Amino acid sequence: MAHYTDLSFFRYEDASWIFKDGFPYILLNIGWLDQAKDYPKGDLLEKDKILYFIFQLCRHPVILHRGFHACNLCDSPQIGIRNEKHNETEFAVGNGSIMVKGKNNLLYVAPTMIFHYIKEHNYLPPEEFIEALLSIRLDWNHFQNIYKNEN
Ligand SMILES: [Zn+2]
Repeated sequence: MAHYTDLSFFRYEDASWIFKDGFPYILLNIGWLDQAKDYPKGDLLEKDKILYFIFQLCRHPVILHRGFHACNLCDSPQIGIRNEKHNETEFAVGNGSIMVKGKNNLLYVAPTMIFHYIKEHNYLPPEEFIEALLSIRLDWNHFQNIYKNEN
């Protein structure tokens, strides 16, 4: 999978609609990990809550990719789209991206695989992302406010 350093500028080819004139956000990468590069690890204070928020966002990925990628941090990579489980609900990761609005028109873009990275690989996202994530209202408004800039 493509590797991008956390908080670098997001430029994913599938998301050309984002770069139309008037799109008011500055997009930053979060959680584009690859086994070839070191990444921040650690214990998240509110890991369960964070995973719950990410799970909710993963159910409505803002960008769906044409293909999918597998996690290459796992010892035995799985073939095909990965399914993760939150409580009893299964959902796919590895074929889409989620967005989280931050301060000052920042918009964080993370692969849905970030759920798996945090859960299984101890990935520690930047604090400003966690802060933004936990402060969103998990309702349709969050998605609408992003989507309405699409056309
Ligand atoms: Zn993995």
